[in-house]
Amino acid sequence: MPNDPSVDEAVQDRDTGLFDAVVNLCKRRGFVFPSAEIYGGIRSTYDYGPLGALMLRNVREAWWRSMVQERDDVVPLEAAILTNPKVWEASGHLATFTDPLVDCRNCNERWRADQLPTTDAGDLVCPNCGSTDLTEARPFNLMFKTFVGPVEDEASIAYLRPETAQGMFVNFMNVMTTMRLKPPFGIAQIGRSFRNEITPGNFVFRTREFEQMEMEFFVPPPDSPRWHGYWCAERFAWYQQYGIPAAKLRLRQHDPDELSHYSAGTSDVEFDFPWGWGELEGIANRTDFDLNAHAKLSGVRLEYYDQATGERYVPHVIEPAAGATRTMMAFLLAAYDEDEVAGERRVVLRLHPRIAPYQVAILPLSKKDTLAPLAREVLAKCRRSFQCEYDDTQSIGRRYRRQDEIGTPLCVTVDFDSLEDRAVTVRDRDSTEQVRLPIDGLVEELLARTTDA
Ligand code: ATP
Repeated sequence: MPNDPSVDEAVQDRDTGLFDAVVNLCKRRGFVFPSAEIYGGIRSTYDYGPLGALMLRNVREAWWRSMVQERDDVVPLEAAILTNPKVWEASGHLATFTDPLVDCRNCNERWRADQLPTTDAGDLVCPNCGSTDLTEARPFNLMFKTFVGPVEDEASIAYLRPETAQGMFVNFMNVMTTMRLKPPFGIAQIGRSFRNEITPGNFVFRTREFEQMEMEFFVPPPDSPRWHGYWCAERFAWYQQYGIPAAKLRLRQHDPDELSHYSAGTSDVEFDFPWGWGELEGIANRTDFDLNAHAKLSGVRLEYYDQATGERYVPHVIEPAAGATRTMMAFLLAAYDEDEVAGERRVVLRLHPRIAPYQVAILPLSKKDTLAPLAREVLAKCRRSFQCEYDDTQSIGRRYRRQDEIGTPLCVTVDFDSLEDRAVTVRDRDSTEQVRLPIDGLVEELLARTTDA
């Protein structure tokens, strides 16, 4: 996207072939568009196109499957984005959710002081113009402020949530009692969060509106170190299960001086982005910080109480907090590949079948009416189990390339023989191998090839 106003110039200037290739593919094939492009876009804000919407949904579902569906100790929640501002007072966001902001007196650009290069003498350097004439750093609160109702006064101020986590803490008692839960148990949520980032950028890596996938796991206090280790291992394995090679991932433990005010220990799952290691997910031991803070400000007891034994305690919390939009970008970067097939260069997204926008493409060999009814019959069968694309344009070779480029793992070709033998050709994206399979039992065969054990 060379002229895209929402891709930072710094990134465009960098020699990142892979980054440019993926950003271009996202625009060209309908994964991600600059938001409101017809108006010139708005910096670092993106809309997810048809393929991006499908893929983002698959990222959410892969997370949901492993965090909710396949477990008996985690329940879901959908909390409001606008909530009582006392939530942000108790959580510490009003007082401390700030980044240090500096202005360059020479070119007037604004920067996050903790991300700037320094001279040998320790002075901050403006990455835009090279000046060291920068203002003192001042704290800048990252929460978006708005007004609820028609009157714009102090009493009607509300904030867009900067994380989904607090929704789980304030609903702790409601969820525990209605679902008859006992620690250890978790509450999981996927949703939009908003941060007024000073320097958003690197495509959808850092945006002001993004999507989080968070889970708060409430445990008896003595068990929290063990559960922290458990969730670090689980979450690290999840990224590999869905196709990121181990060599592109690392688990990095925070230094004590890096820890958030609420954390007794945090490890980040990091991905090897084209510009270096970047966080995909933070797994924190939040102790009893949040429940205690909300109990204190609300005056409501937030604790587990066992009537039979009289046992009473405030659980500690392990939080795996991931970003859906950032993870989608990592999946795309890890999957992008170029190779040669029959002497022709091809671009292929080697996405995991569960993450790819379409799992199956149905391709009638010819556009002639004779093949359409059977191809449509195959489509109708496959659609019940897969997101499918039906494409009857251009040559079959071109259609295979199109599907390779958007990561579709399987193409099903209906040809003239199919009318006689009721069989189709199934082509594998990665090996390009083709096999002939009967239409009867086709869906089961395709399911076996696209679902993980
Ligand atoms: P960073 O250090 O990159 O600002 P963070 O440590 O503040 O991130 P958390 O508060 O731990 O992030 O949020 C959990 C996850 O939410 C992050 O690991 C990331 O995947 C995602 N996330 C956070 N901020 C953004 C953003 N501005 N744009 C996209 N994703 C984000």
